[in-house]
Amino acid sequence: MMTAAILPGAPQPSVGGPATARAVCVLAPNPSPMTLDGTNTWLVSEPDSDLAVAIDPGPQDEAHLRNVLAVAERLGKRVALTLLTHGHPDHAAGAARFAELTGTNVRALDPALRLGDEGLAAGDVITTGGLELRVVPTPGHTADSLCFQLSADRAVLTGDTVLGRGTTVVAYPDGRLGDYLDSLRHLRALTADGSVETILPGHGPVLSDARGAVEYYLAHRAHRLAQVETAVEQGHTTPAQVVAHVYADVDRSLWPAAELSVRAQLDYLREHGLI
Ligand SMILES: [Zn+2]
Repeated sequence: MMTAAILPGAPQPSVGGPATARAVCVLAPNPSPMTLDGTNTWLVSEPDSDLAVAIDPGPQDEAHLRNVLAVAERLGKRVALTLLTHGHPDHAAGAARFAELTGTNVRALDPALRLGDEGLAAGDVITTGGLELRVVPTPGHTADSLCFQLSADRAVLTGDTVLGRGTTVVAYPDGRLGDYLDSLRHLRALTADGSVETILPGHGPVLSDARGAVEYYLAHRAHRLAQVETAVEQGHTTPAQVVAHVYADVDRSLWPAAELSVRAQLDYLREHGLI
């Protein structure tokens, strides 16, 4: 997260609890400037099924992992599968322990994160207890970032690709700006035809105007890119100099993360012959 901007669509003030007919958020106790309120662990299931899919168990925090299980139990559900949006530790570090507690496999794009035989690939449709989740590759925040489209609720689970508040980091060099812009355009296409109206993010509140949020992200990236280009033209050539110039309005504790995004932007501008 980079700024405290309020995104379009009147985000819910609170985080956690039921979000759509099929998705319930369990908030992990790891708040920080980067993780906002904490990591959103999602339990997704058909209302009449006793099987649930867990998305992003979160950090290695035994109390949180057990709380996710307790919430599932209270809902009358058993976790049958664990999915990861990407490998950052605030989403994935608890996955192995969670898999142990639930006896489930872990499916992710990155083979190193998987437990069990199955991975995830573009267009895969997860079907668990009648629930359908479509895998949408969205590289950019990281190379292994995925979204999961929950068509029945016109929703998409975005991990760190789109957050409930502010904007995300392009975690260069693993994350690439060109990929990220393509991923945002892909998400925009899903929102344009009404297939997706709600964003269920990896951090922060649910967004009820998916299209507005994705448009905001694209506009924000274009704005930052123009600022970086201008900064370089004015002689701020190192990533640290560009951060100090362009991100002067952002809390200094976020500058190290901003520097990753700046490196991604400088790389993009060079690749496109713009600087
Ligand atoms: Zn992340």
